[in-house]
Amino acid sequence: MDLNLANKVYIVTGGAKGIGAAISKGIAAEGGIVVVVGRGKDDNIKIVDEIVKAKGKASYVTAELSQAQACKEVIDFTAEKYGQIDGLINNAGINDGIGLENGSPEKLFESLHKNLSHYYNLAHYALPYLKKSKGNIVNIGSKVATTGQGNTSGYAASKGAINALTREWAVELLPYSIRVNTVLPAEVWTPLYENWINSLPNPKEKLEQIVSKIPFEKRMTTAEEIADMAIFLLSSKSSHTTGQIIYVDGGYTHLDRSL
Ligand code: NAP
Repeated sequence: MDLNLANKVYIVTGGAKGIGAAISKGIAAEGGIVVVVGRGKDDNIKIVDEIVKAKGKASYVTAELSQAQACKEVIDFTAEKYGQIDGLINNAGINDGIGLENGSPEKLFESLHKNLSHYYNLAHYALPYLKKSKGNIVNIGSKVATTGQGNTSGYAASKGAINALTREWAVELLPYSIRVNTVLPAEVWTPLYENWINSLPNPKEKLEQIVSKIPFEKRMTTAEEIADMAIFLLSSKSSHTTGQIIYVDGGYTHLDRSL
């Protein structure tokens, strides 16, 4: 199946690690040009080298996305270097554990900047280019928006807002033929996940307990399985799909708990 990504330009936030890295590599393997955005310069260089060695096309911007100005610079860099933007993959986020009891108004605000504001800011600054290309936006959300997790108000609020913005932007951008969709992971082994599980008491037992409750094949979702859905949504093969929130989670969020 030709996904028609060749020589199109895609910005992937958090594109150097975990789910973002799988999306970056997947786009490049389809012939797309990837702009990896992340705050770790060494991580960015490493993945771009890897993609280029595999004959893909990629560059990077090192940016702390919680700063609005950094979001503008990401878009300016991409537009100046390539002259076009065909897709924005909003993926960077962190489950930072700002709860009701252990948080504060200031910490909540910071968490919203780490997890939510840059999704809006990048879409805002990319919009003129997406209008020209009739490009599209794929957001990466979280099952936490649907199930809750406890002690993570900032992250949960951000992910809930991302679901709402998916519908809101899909409506606002109808006149420009820009599609907006969200892929929603639940349990995917990534550096973020590893840090989170290790922050819990008895991480090994907790992990076994979680995996035993994933209905489909009693295993975690791979980063590549999330990436495959994100890339399909970016592609012209999903040309009439917009405003959708798609759970790629082995049935974890919705299927019967007794399974
Ligand atoms: P990850 O392994 O931590 O990778 C995310 C990358 O984004 C890292 O390179 C991180 O940099 C970067 N990043 C995060 N916040 C940033 C910021 N403000 N500015 C610049 N770079 C930033 O995470 P992941 O597990 O792949 O998660 C990716 C997305 O999937 C997130 O939106 C997450 O909420 C969502 N998700 C993941 C899971 C899961 O099971 N893994 C489940 C549900 C939802 P650092 O390394 O410096 O932090």
